[in-house]
Amino acid sequence: MRITISLLTLLALSIQAAVRQPNILFIFTDDHAIKSLSAYGGPLAKIAPTPHLDRIAKEGILFEHCLVSNSICAPSRAVVLTGKYSHLNGQLTNKGSFDGSQQTAPKLLRKAGYQTAIVGKWHLKSTPTGFDHFEVLKGQGQYYNPMLITNGRNVNHTGYTTDIITDQALKWLRQRDTQKPFFLMTQHKAPHGRWEPALRHLNTFEKINIPEPSTLFDYYSGRSAAPASHKMGIAEDMGPSRLMFRYSSKFTPEQFKIFDDHFRPRNEVFEKLNLQGRDRTRWNYQRYIKNYLRCVKAVDENVGRMLKFLDDSGLAKNTVVIYSSDQGFWLGEHGWFDKRWMYEESLHTPLLVRWPGQIKPGSTNANLVSNLDFAQTFLDIAGAVQPGDMQGRSLTPILRGKTPADWRRAHYYHYYEAGGHGVPIHYGVTDGRYKLIRFPDEKLNTWEFFDLKTDPMEMKSRYSDSKYAQRIGGLKKELTRLRRQYKVTK
Ligand code: CA
Repeated sequence: MRITISLLTLLALSIQAAVRQPNILFIFTDDHAIKSLSAYGGPLAKIAPTPHLDRIAKEGILFEHCLVSNSICAPSRAVVLTGKYSHLNGQLTNKGSFDGSQQTAPKLLRKAGYQTAIVGKWHLKSTPTGFDHFEVLKGQGQYYNPMLITNGRNVNHTGYTTDIITDQALKWLRQRDTQKPFFLMTQHKAPHGRWEPALRHLNTFEKINIPEPSTLFDYYSGRSAAPASHKMGIAEDMGPSRLMFRYSSKFTPEQFKIFDDHFRPRNEVFEKLNLQGRDRTRWNYQRYIKNYLRCVKAVDENVGRMLKFLDDSGLAKNTVVIYSSDQGFWLGEHGWFDKRWMYEESLHTPLLVRWPGQIKPGSTNANLVSNLDFAQTFLDIAGAVQPGDMQGRSLTPILRGKTPADWRRAHYYHYYEAGGHGVPIHYGVTDGRYKLIRFPDEKLNTWEFFDLKTDPMEMKSRYSDSKYAQRIGGLKKELTRLRRQYKVTK
């Protein structure tokens, strides 16, 4: 009898423990610059507000300095899954296929009793592993009528991809095993190029002139030869499909008519104007930024739909909502679109977290955190063991308002895709105030150093300025230390 009771007690305790494990909803976008998420402020906040995303910050915490370890799509996704730098998880560039046999957070969460799912963009080529359910775009996917590889089967959908990814994520939530906590990765294609807005947003921002960044016309003087080698210029590198002279999606005839009726007459007007030089760049910028912001708007609306589902289903209280993107993006700063550089706009990625009862609503945090920390954060939230070979650190103490005294004071960055959009291999370190970048290619073989307080737009490298010699020496030492700590050999 006594044995039976204690068994029942144990069972009750384990059920209780399972109940206490919170659900984790990870909403992840592709190429979302913090300057286009209104909770982060800035000149676009009033013009293109993101109220639903802002709600996560209002009811949770906003990280001002979430820095990626390698600012490009597939590598960032691999870092999130593994909690390891690119050189250890093997996904150095967009080119390779992710080794799904390795340890990942979803696999460990599954072991800890979670039901795991991913819906949306995967972008890692190999078949997803560690998920009870996967429903993913093939490669980059398209903005309209996506095909989703659904547990190995190709399923075609009709509609706008950002809406459909949300529909499918909600569908999975409704039919999930409610006996288990869930870990759901809802991952959008948006706002990755080529920026095809939803039909309902074609006219949004139509009558507004979006303010230009102060560095839209940048001639890259005052820095090394590296930034001038770019091929991501709004002036010269956008091509017809990024500017909607050619469409990327395979539309239905009805969709095509509405889409083309919007862009074709405007393109004809533009061609007659025959704009040159700065006027042409300015036109490209307006065309680009408006479509980008329209894609963000659909993301925001769909985040709102997910938050509403959590409210209506009663799940909100015991669900941690995490919003982030695989990296930042250039919204015209330095004349660029795309990402990759260790400079501020592509190094920063948004990070908003809501965890009712644990995070003080409306918090902001200025610590250096990273996508390297996500895997361990998921595991820590779940009460699961964090493997010693992961290289980040759980954010849960920070979420609860207490930054550990020995939190990182410098962040290591390493970009490997040589020549992609003209960006050379580089690595470096930043402590948030100063930044040191090394371009090791034989042709460049150079350094850059920025004082972010006096030069937040990174227009002048102070590498040769004797005033900074001591700082540079200090950061070089830190760079060597971090490379050793993270086991970087190249
Ligand atoms: Ca990306």
